[in-house]
Amino acid sequence: MTELLYQTDSYLQEFDAHVTIVLQEERAVVLDRSAFYPGGGGQPCDFGSLTVADVIYPVEKVKKLGDDVLHFIGGNAPLPSTGSSSRGTLDWARRYKLMRTHTALHVLCGTVFRDHGALVTGGDMEPLKGRLDFEFATMHGDLVREIETAINKEVTQARAIRVKILPREEAFQIPDLIRTKINLLPEGIAQVRTVEIVGLDLQADGGTHVRNTVEVGSIRVADYKSKGAINKRIYIEIE
Ligand SMILES: [Zn+2]
Repeated sequence: MTELLYQTDSYLQEFDAHVTIVLQEERAVVLDRSAFYPGGGGQPCDFGSLTVADVIYPVEKVKKLGDDVLHFIGGNAPLPSTGSSSRGTLDWARRYKLMRTHTALHVLCGTVFRDHGALVTGGDMEPLKGRLDFEFATMHGDLVREIETAINKEVTQARAIRVKILPREEAFQIPDLIRTKINLLPEGIAQVRTVEIVGLDLQADGGTHVRNTVEVGSIRVADYKSKGAINKRIYIEIE
């Protein structure tokens, strides 16, 4: 089982951990704790490196498997042995861009729901670029600039972002969470992590976010596509 350090501190760039499992064939190691985001909820996984003794191993992919986080090691150096002390280092430039992008998408989601009542059905992102799909029958091209102005206004409001881990029953009492389809969470999940942009948006979310919307920077609505009468896709880019 890997302790998920990024869940409580998204700004952690380096950490110490022990190697608990070594998978030779997959060239992957499991650590007892990790700040590497394993991907999920539209946010891609982190890259970086793992240092054991004098060897620096590139971490080329990270994936969650059950309660373990698998760190896939590049190159062909012999893997570290179980029990080794290691130091993990994130590719922070990439991760921080993903944090800004992920928060920008929540700003978009919260603003479009508040102003137009449209719900998100899906999304995806890469560093400094992302898209959300909405059930948004009244969306049309003329609204693009209006939405862009509204989301940038929210960014400059310097809204704080708060992350909480709540018991399932408590989370289910929060009306705002219901609209983000929290009821689709598997039965077995005892705790729900919530990400709140204070005064704008509250979601059940496992991703990594900045502390304040001002860190997002300027957002451009780069494109918009109609995917049918109801489903509309909005693309954003961060400066
Ligand atoms: Zn999210």
